[in-house]
Amino acid sequence: MAIKYSRQREAIWEYLKDRKDHPTADDIYIAVRKDFPNISLGTVYRNIMLMKNMGRIRTVDVGDGIIHFDPNTSEHDHFICSQCGKVVDIDAADIEEVKKLAAHNFPGRIDGYSAFFYGLCEDCLKKKQQ
Ligand code: ZN
Ligand code: MN
Repeated sequence: MAIKYSRQREAIWEYLKDRKDHPTADDIYIAVRKDFPNISLGTVYRNIMLMKNMGRIRTVDVGDGIIHFDPNTSEHDHFICSQCGKVVDIDAADIEEVKKLAAHNFPGRIDGYSAFFYGLCEDCLKKKQQ
C-alpha cells in the first residue's frame, strides 16, 4: 500500500522533528490543532503510529501507561523524573559497551537494549534545594 502524502502528517512531523521532550499523543494533538482545527485525536494518533511504523519516529514506553514519542530514532537511553514525570535523553551511556557486558554470560544474541534512569530532573532538583 502506497502511503499518501498528508499535510496533517507533515504538520505532526514539523512539530515533532526537533523536540527533545518526548510529547504524548495529547501534546501533539493540542499543538497540531492550532493549524488544523478540525483534526481529531484519532487522526493524530493514526498518523503518529503510521510514522512509527515507517521508522520515522520511535515510541518511548516509560511505564506510566502513556506512550511518548521521540523523533530521535538512534539508540539512546532515557531519564524519568520521579517528581514531574519529565522524560529526558541520556546520551552518556556507551551502548556498545553495555551490550558487550550483557552478552558476556548470555548464550543467545543481543541486538539491542533499552534502559531507564530515575531520579529528579534539573528543575525539580533546583526547586527542592530552594
Ligand atoms: Zn522533574
Ligand atoms: Mn529520546
